[in-house]
Amino acid sequence: MSSDDTAAGGQDPQGHVPDLMDRLVSLCKQRGFVFQSSEIYGGLGSVYDYGPLGVELKRNLREAWWREMVTSREDVEGLETGILMNPEVWVASGHVAGFTDPLVECRNCHRRFREDHLSEEQPDAERGQWQCPVCGVTGEFTEPRQFNLMFRTFMGPVEDEGSVAYLRPETAQGTYVNFRNVQESARQKIPFGVAQTGRSFRNEITPGNFIFRTREFEQMELQYFVEPGTDDEWLATWRERRMEWLVGLGIREERLRLHRHGPDELAHYAKEAWDIQYRFPFGWQEFEGIHNRTDFDLASHQEHSGKKLEYFDHQTQERYIPYVIETAIGLDRLFLVVLADAYAEEEVEGDTRTVLRLKPSLAPITAAIFPLVKKDGMPEIAHAIADDLRGRFAVFHDESGSIGRRYRRQDEAGTPFCITVDGQTTEDDTVTVRDRDTLEQVRVPISGLAEHLTTAMAGE
Ligand code: ATP
Repeated sequence: MSSDDTAAGGQDPQGHVPDLMDRLVSLCKQRGFVFQSSEIYGGLGSVYDYGPLGVELKRNLREAWWREMVTSREDVEGLETGILMNPEVWVASGHVAGFTDPLVECRNCHRRFREDHLSEEQPDAERGQWQCPVCGVTGEFTEPRQFNLMFRTFMGPVEDEGSVAYLRPETAQGTYVNFRNVQESARQKIPFGVAQTGRSFRNEITPGNFIFRTREFEQMELQYFVEPGTDDEWLATWRERRMEWLVGLGIREERLRLHRHGPDELAHYAKEAWDIQYRFPFGWQEFEGIHNRTDFDLASHQEHSGKKLEYFDHQTQERYIPYVIETAIGLDRLFLVVLADAYAEEEVEGDTRTVLRLKPSLAPITAAIFPLVKKDGMPEIAHAIADDLRGRFAVFHDESGSIGRRYRRQDEAGTPFCITVDGQTTEDDTVTVRDRDTLEQVRVPISGLAEHLTTAMAGE
């Protein structure tokens, strides 16, 4: 069975199961991966909540990233900065003046769109002559207006301009303003990096595609500080490492590609920038950015704050503002990539099954434990196995419904192993372990289960 087998017949032009996004949204709700925010009140535009399985998958992805970027490296330190910061930070970074999207409004239905999105989606239409994606009327757009994406709020009891604060639109600035704190307290020498994961907020005008573009999301960002002159090489190194990591997560290589920003795409701070794109059901889209931000951010914060943000190289006795290579990935977007890539539908014994072929170490549940029937001491044995494995593995006990239905539910949750206690267990203390992908079942002694799972996970 290939990983692209689809019982529903064929694939969409992007090589996915047809209508994959609709199927994912429905699977995510039914199985408890993702819910619409405040659903009982009709929801809130483009904010989502993560359910019991979703929160585990997200946590596994975050931890895999942290292990790769921080704990497995000597040259990277972790950091966690506040969502609220001194508003001057966002003046120095350029966000107050420039973190804007050009917005046009359809005069007919009064819906607003990003001008660059309309140009991308309707490349043959002249500027302003697009067709409105909502009401269908052509050429009725206003001139673009710059719209700042930062959420504004107020600190303290008075709501005036003096008490304005912003919800951060990226974690990076919190890292830059702490550059000296981290470097000096951790006694790091250049080159070294500072990593953070955390929530960011952007008042996106046209959010959409489920959790692809939302107004509240989580980022995982590394700022790697290097000596000017070595920046091109470091950018290439990080580009390669990041691609390798994504492939190692099990994402299909043929659905990944690098896109280099052309001169018109480059952000004002960037010397060179690359996107890692995934072939989503709605086309190739970025989910990670790798940028050479030069000394723009540190130099700008040095100038605005009046505090030195230089690095002193004891060996060469030189002082300089380091260059920054940034790798920035959205955790929610990565979550969507991993789900889209893992989702398959296939025929099994004349039946259609939906399966998430998640890498076992990412799966929310590692092993589900079933008593074949609810009698003859089987539930007690299954509970004892679950209690024994819990703590070392993410396990789940289920005794409701037919065994076939229990397998299907776990396939949809992406659980790689299902352990079943049956009649033979009461005779010889062995259980069956079913593999999610091959559907093979092997008999394993209860006492050898932990080792069996560990070995299977190691070879994933
Ligand atoms: P886009 O062009 O899609 O708006 P961007 O280039 O502004 O993204 P960056 O500022 O480089 O994105 O942010 C790094 C990463 O953060 C993106 O690759 C993406 O994974 C994630 N991200 C950015 N905006 C959003 C959003 N509104 N919702 C979810 N994830 C986001």
